[in-house]
Amino acid sequence: MKVSFPHLGNMSIPLRAFFSGIGMEVVTPPPTTRKTVAIGAQLAPETACLPLKVTTGNMIEAINAGADTVFMVGGIGPCRLGYYCELQKDILDDLGHDAELVVIEPPKGHLRETARFARILTSRARIRDVVEAGRLAWEKCIGIDVFDQLANAARWSERETGAVDRAARAGLDWLDKASRVPDVREAIAATMEKVRSCSTLGTIHSLDPCAPGLQVGAQPPCGADSPVTVGVVGEIYVVMEPAVNMNLCKKLGAIGVAVSQPITFSGWIMAHVVLDVIKLMAKPDMLTWAMPYLRSFVGGHGVESVGRSVQMARSGLDGVVHISPLTCMPEIVAQSILPRVSEEEGIPIMSLTVDEHTADAGLDTRLEAFCDLLAVRSGKRLHGAAVTPCKNGRAT
Ligand code: SF4
Repeated sequence: MKVSFPHLGNMSIPLRAFFSGIGMEVVTPPPTTRKTVAIGAQLAPETACLPLKVTTGNMIEAINAGADTVFMVGGIGPCRLGYYCELQKDILDDLGHDAELVVIEPPKGHLRETARFARILTSRARIRDVVEAGRLAWEKCIGIDVFDQLANAARWSERETGAVDRAARAGLDWLDKASRVPDVREAIAATMEKVRSCSTLGTIHSLDPCAPGLQVGAQPPCGADSPVTVGVVGEIYVVMEPAVNMNLCKKLGAIGVAVSQPITFSGWIMAHVVLDVIKLMAKPDMLTWAMPYLRSFVGGHGVESVGRSVQMARSGLDGVVHISPLTCMPEIVAQSILPRVSEEEGIPIMSLTVDEHTADAGLDTRLEAFCDLLAVRSGKRLHGAAVTPCKNGRAT
């Protein structure tokens, strides 16, 4: 059995650890590139959202590399994710691939599918090995989320261009090689220290005190030298996958802003798999934050986009970037509500929509203009240079 899975940020690291830990041969798909996106866009319906197209491209590339079983997450609610696996099965059948697509449904409401997934795992390994592999993968997952959040918060203050990303990359390689939980923890601690030492950050703690799950970030200094702070919200796949969001967080860091991107895979698992199943969702949750503007579940991360924007405004962040795939229904709902959130909570919010045609240049221009606006509005600095309004109102 040669197993594979679509990419989601750096999640191939814990997934590889988990599946190889229970004795399965893992075929990691090649990194997502424009070619991957083009393969998926050619095979998927034109109006399907970008996650379907890109994950289909990953699957085809993994099968071409030798995978015979592909794991894919399912979904519940109004979002189309729950339907996409059926579509992807049809696409693979039509192409004549005999690889098996195994759908991992959220346990809530899908106990039979969850039991089937558990049977596949335990048919290959002892329960004890599955638990051990799961524990190692979970620790690696947390490490990846720590590195992402920390790098997002630290890039604006790095002492040498690219130093933060080099430290985070080295940490990821260390995590990937670690075969025991203590080694993973050592890699996390050492990388956090390394990132801190190559930037001018002070204390490491959270920029997002109300996020469920992981709570790591770095508080930028207050006062005259404080940077512009921007929160990133939106559909989880495009927020977490740099290959489709055009490295949004890196671009913002390069402009000179501190970024809070609280949407993490470990946070998602904790909120939607563990706490939701045992009815222990931490309060206030995103529904509570969103309540004045959106009172019902609209699928995907629609409620989170509204709730987090409210929470970020009340936490004192200077602006919010909302990013979503074209035709994503939950985020279309959120996008229609965010102008009211912006007005009533007093925070600028910019919505960006991406599809397979989105290019770097257009995104760069919009981000620079938005950050200029935030700097002028807040009286803070970008890139260490004071931004002041000139006569025609444009930032300098
Ligand atoms: S949340 Fe939106 S983009 Fe993501 S799978 Fe659902 S419809 Fe597609």
